[in-house]
Amino acid sequence: MKVTIIGTGYVGLVTGACLSEMGNHVVCLDVDAKKIQVLNDGGIPIYEPGLKEVVQRNVSAGRLQFTTDVQLAVNHGTLQFIGVGTPPDEDGSADLQYVLAAARNIGRYMTDYKVVVDKSTVPVGTADKVRAVIAEELAKRDKQVDFAVVSNPEFLKEGAAVEDFMRPDRIVVGADDERSILLMRALYAPYIRSHERLLVMDVRSAEFTKYAANSMLATRISFMNELALLAEKVGADIELVRKGIGSDPRIGYQFLYAGTGYGGSCFPKDVNALMRTGKEYGIDLKVLNAVDRANQHQKTVLVEKVVARFGADLTGRRFAMWGLAFKPNTDDMRDAPSRDVIQALAERGATIVAYDPVAAEEAHRVLSHVKSLQIVDNVAATLEGADALLILTEWREFKSPDFDQIKRLLKQPVIFDGRNLYEPALMRDLGFDYRGIGRGTAQ
Ligand code: NAD
Repeated sequence: MKVTIIGTGYVGLVTGACLSEMGNHVVCLDVDAKKIQVLNDGGIPIYEPGLKEVVQRNVSAGRLQFTTDVQLAVNHGTLQFIGVGTPPDEDGSADLQYVLAAARNIGRYMTDYKVVVDKSTVPVGTADKVRAVIAEELAKRDKQVDFAVVSNPEFLKEGAAVEDFMRPDRIVVGADDERSILLMRALYAPYIRSHERLLVMDVRSAEFTKYAANSMLATRISFMNELALLAEKVGADIELVRKGIGSDPRIGYQFLYAGTGYGGSCFPKDVNALMRTGKEYGIDLKVLNAVDRANQHQKTVLVEKVVARFGADLTGRRFAMWGLAFKPNTDDMRDAPSRDVIQALAERGATIVAYDPVAAEEAHRVLSHVKSLQIVDNVAATLEGADALLILTEWREFKSPDFDQIKRLLKQPVIFDGRNLYEPALMRDLGFDYRGIGRGTAQ
């Protein structure tokens, strides 16, 4: 099939690459000429495991192409995926300007039947707006061209995006005409050969499903974070509690990890956008409100522990930080909790020496205003002369570190672990002052 992807970011690039992998001919469009240049020079503008190989293979085979030429891109695909960003507006609602600009471009240049597929996360009712904008552009040109607007929210996880796209848990398609449903089924058939995982529903329910999914996951995290605060007070270990409840199949083990609060480009913005939709319709989403507030608070917890140990004035203190990205296997720094922690430590006068296996460049870009932050390229360089180690991201290479080296290089053996990577009893035996999240029995 001929497919166009509008917006070549985390979602657009993965979607384009993985669709070309099955033999489709894909053109990826972006307004960011630098990004397209990098791709056309054989590079990959983001870090995503396995993506480079898929892109290179399909570019070489002539099935995957990158362009800034809107007309060329619109002419190419029968399926026009919109995968542009939907950042939060000032009031927390999703800013639809990029989605509607993409739709306008489709209306401006289309000459034959198109299925316009909203892959961006967009509030309920957006498909109607997309349809209206395209119709408006067609009317301006006095053209009558048939088209459908379909909702196909994306559920991939950064860090495992290629795998998620190639082997999806489910594919949600919101559509209200048979022709577009048939095309969507054909496009996704190779990804769901073993058993049916394509859920066809009406457009509004599909749009809603994406927000419901992210809000549910965010709720689980905030719930566990709140329980972790209490666990510390009552002398319980949240890691044991997690295993205790996760073993109930009605609850399950996933997304029950206490930590420094959820971040990334999706959960915070999608929780807020759904609350905003609630407001618009006169529904106060009380649970989600609490989820968001709990998360804001959770981002301060690690710094509170530092202050409890070293005092409010951290002038002259130096802290090692392991991990900057909002989760492992990505370089994404959008809304990463490390940013809040770094900011708070710096405001109290501390110096931070940080290491992340892949997010250093992105972190430099978004944290350039923090003068007391240094980013180094190995763990040992963070530790030398530091007052304590803070762990912000659960990268694999942090899971079994050289504890002797940590002890030798730190000024004193203190670890604030925002990801609960180690056993408190073992750490005590090794002589560390070890403070995790919700590990009441050890503190
Ligand atoms: P991103 O910022 O990485 O990419 C968006 C791209 O769209 C950018 O490269 C930008 O230059 C381009 N763009 C903007 N306007 C354009 C236009 N008019 N024409 C062509 N290109 C244009 O964003 P992302 O993380 O890929 O997210 C995209 C959407 O997918 C968002 O709605 C997001 O909520 C949703 N989503 C993201 C993830 C994720 O893990 N990142 C997962 C599921 C869903």
